Amino acid sequence: EVKQDQLENAKKYVNDVFEKVKQRNSGENEFHQAVKEVFDSLVPILAKDPKYIQHNILERVVEPERVISFRVPWVDDEGKVQVNRGFRVQFNSAIGPYKGGLRFHPSVNASIIKFLGFEQIFKNSLTGQPIGGGKGGSDFDPKGKSDNEIMNFCQSFMTELSKYIDPDTDVPAGDIGVGAREIGFLFGQYKRLRGGYPAGVLTGKGLGYGGSLARTEATGYGTVYFVQEMLKDQGDSFEGKTVVVSGSGNVSIYAIEKAHELGAKVVACSDSNGYIYDKNGINLATVKQLKEVERKRISEYVSYHPEAEYHEGCSNIWLTPCDIALPCATQNEIDDISAKLLVANGVKAVGEGANMPSSLEAIDVFLKNKVLFGPAKAANAGGVAVSALEMAQNSMRLAWSFEEVDAKLHEIMKNIYRSSVQAAAEFGQPGNLVVGSNIAGFKKVADAMIAHGV
Ligand code: GLU
Repeated sequence: EVKQDQLENAKKYVNDVFEKVKQRNSGENEFHQAVKEVFDSLVPILAKDPKYIQHNILERVVEPERVISFRVPWVDDEGKVQVNRGFRVQFNSAIGPYKGGLRFHPSVNASIIKFLGFEQIFKNSLTGQPIGGGKGGSDFDPKGKSDNEIMNFCQSFMTELSKYIDPDTDVPAGDIGVGAREIGFLFGQYKRLRGGYPAGVLTGKGLGYGGSLARTEATGYGTVYFVQEMLKDQGDSFEGKTVVVSGSGNVSIYAIEKAHELGAKVVACSDSNGYIYDKNGINLATVKQLKEVERKRISEYVSYHPEAEYHEGCSNIWLTPCDIALPCATQNEIDDISAKLLVANGVKAVGEGANMPSSLEAIDVFLKNKVLFGPAKAANAGGVAVSALEMAQNSMRLAWSFEEVDAKLHEIMKNIYRSSVQAAAEFGQPGNLVVGSNIAGFKKVADAMIAHGV
């Protein structure tokens, strides 16, 4: 049993370190938000076991091992020289090489990359795979750029990044704005500069040159597998459920595919401009064609399916009544107002496919109203888990079948669910998967840090 003074002591420690985080990283709101969520969850384990406070693990774990920021000059199709800022945060390598995606989006800054890198530490730990936490990206906007401009940018980005990464040190992958095309250009440049065949330096590679089957599907499928476990525990399933999936990128597309396969009807998805509602169920072939092949806006969907509706404003998607909501677009896409709307319309389960899609207030609304809530670190860990399987295949110089990788992914998602449920119960917050996943992810990393000394 935890004594009252130990609990007070843990709370004071958490507050003291959080104050330092705000001072040292002033103005980095997304980073503060991610840290706050994790820190508040950790109070029960810090109160129970004094070693984490003794070793000052929190202050150590919130300070990245290394932050790299660099100039990315490139030439556009008019011959003009453009400059963007590149980042790589090598956050924590206690349990394996830094691992995490690259995000190319105009909103990228130090706060965004640090929040993503911080989350990645615990997410990666939860997968049970030997991968540390990292993240990178650029404020480069891929929207409307030609293939040639994308290639020029990727080559310049990798020319600098290549100095800091290799298959045993740091292994980037995709995230928003970075898919198979970008990974191809990045890998080509790394290989040109470093020589040999360093397959394991990036994941999410094309299938013909070292990529893993089921990596593309992994994040979306994984999110649905996770929600399937939450529902199963309540004697429920996806069968016959109405689902809303925000976004229309890689995560959303494969979440929709798996939800349909399990007998649900996904009625809405979105992009940053607006959302589509199709009462007959989203036609995924059309979405794939529009987003993966033609790179067009989701509004075009209605020209193929005139019975569907297009509405401006992406956050309005949460006005759509549904049993299950899968936010798969971006951070803070659900605020407390959207969360209250979802609850009022009878949402039963929320699975976070994106990173930090719910604000702290929104999470509160879901938990208080007993909505089954699958937090991002747990529910979207399938992508990076299969990235770790891609690294393993690269090291072994072999390739597993789709069925083999998918079965491993499914098993990993079940394990993440079980360990989150178990940690939540053990630390006195049964059913709270935010607390459970944060504690389970933290414990392994913190114990490794203690084992390694200061
Ligand atoms: N960007 C994904 C994530 O947020 C995947 C990272 C990876 O595969 O390394 O977890």
